[in-house]
Amino acid sequence: MDINRNFTGEQILLRDTIRKFAEEVIKPKARELDEKEEFSVEITKQMAEIGLLACFLPDKYNGCGLDYVSYIMVVEELARVDGSHAATIAAHNSLGAGPLYYYGNEEQKKKYLPKFADGYLWGFGLTEPEAGSDAGNTQTTAVQDGDYWVLNGAKIFITNASTDITLGSTVLACTGTKPGGKKELSCFIVENGTPGFTTKAMKNKLMWRASNTSELYFEDCRVHKDNMLGKRGDGFHQMLGTLDNGRLSIAAMGLGNAQGAFETALNYAKTRKQFGKPISTYQATAFKLADIDMGLEMARNYLYEVCRMLDRNENITKEGAIAKLYCSELAHMASNHCVQIHGGYGLMKEYDAERFYRDQKLLEIGEGTSEIQRLVISRMIGCFDV
Ligand SMILES: Cc1cc2nc3c(=O)[nH]c(=O)nc-3n(C[C@H](O)[C@H](O)[C@H](O)COP(=O)(O)OP(=O)(O)OC[C@H]3O[C@@H](n4cnc5c(N)ncnc54)[C@H](O)[C@@H]3O)c2cc1C
Repeated sequence: MDINRNFTGEQILLRDTIRKFAEEVIKPKARELDEKEEFSVEITKQMAEIGLLACFLPDKYNGCGLDYVSYIMVVEELARVDGSHAATIAAHNSLGAGPLYYYGNEEQKKKYLPKFADGYLWGFGLTEPEAGSDAGNTQTTAVQDGDYWVLNGAKIFITNASTDITLGSTVLACTGTKPGGKKELSCFIVENGTPGFTTKAMKNKLMWRASNTSELYFEDCRVHKDNMLGKRGDGFHQMLGTLDNGRLSIAAMGLGNAQGAFETALNYAKTRKQFGKPISTYQATAFKLADIDMGLEMARNYLYEVCRMLDRNENITKEGAIAKLYCSELAHMASNHCVQIHGGYGLMKEYDAERFYRDQKLLEIGEGTSEIQRLVISRMIGCFDV
């Protein structure tokens, strides 16, 4: 099937441009950065120069004003070549810029959003050591003291939060108790360098090794009341809304990873000969490739249709969960087949197969595990309404 169907000429041009950029700028360095576990400021700045740190922000904030289909295409194309750089862009745009743009007031937007085009990053501080899937169980507290809120607590696994070009993070904290006894949760804008706020890069990751993942610590960290994002008590709703959209960028990373693994496996299978013939001609290999191709067709069609729903401002809670689940499980299958088709070479760092295999695993965990996606879908189809 022609993958260009249903895309506009502009979207196709964008995809081709990003593909070229990923091949020429990221690919030659991806293996080395992964090996050294090094976040590249240089490549991130280059990505900023072509607008990738302000994908869907409007022109008035120096953004590219992309629709969601185009933004997701960008993430897919980056992930086709390297998971780490796709993660930097997906987390920054969906989780970093997203909440500021959708929930911030004009003053907050004017202060932070235009800086992203200049190559600065923003983090999304939801997960805590004791609050992962159960993110509503946030332990970080914010207590009002005059014009300030005083934050105490810690966050873990926060993407992009501690690089040299990170401006700050949006952080969820408990600001009180609701009438029914539930926690009242609110979001705060916390700039790096604020006294009482420290960040620490997490090392020794299995995957996305050239992306930045951080721990955040708050010890009597005072932020002005103007740093509250939206209304007091709206924080959890804002975070869940952010994740609904963010899941599409994780889905795009799954699709891109599967596409990259597929191309890598197909090329290898056509050139590797055993028993005198290319291994692609053995049905055991060919059927693996056929299964991935089938998954790619289904995933691409579904994911971009959900993006179009979002572009029309339709609710995508269920569809986003399905897209994220399907595309991440496709990446699991595709990268596993890719390694298998490479045989022993697939386990060696000189081949991209092993990096696709490692990078996909996070997609079944981050922004809601596969189990949580199944929970969201079960809830939406009414399983628990009995
Ligand atoms: C590299 C990386 C980057 C990340 N980036 C960010 C970021 O930028 N911002 C951020 O806030 N977070 C981020 N995360 C955190 C990520 O979203 C969490 O790891 C994820 O939500 C799961 O939480 P957890 O690790 O605490 O696992 P847990 O919640 O402890 O889950 C452990 C296991 O229990 C299962 N489980 C839990 N509850 C249920 C249930 N009710 N039903 C069935 N099974 C269940 C899970 O599915 C999983 O298999 C990142 C994580 C990583 C590794």
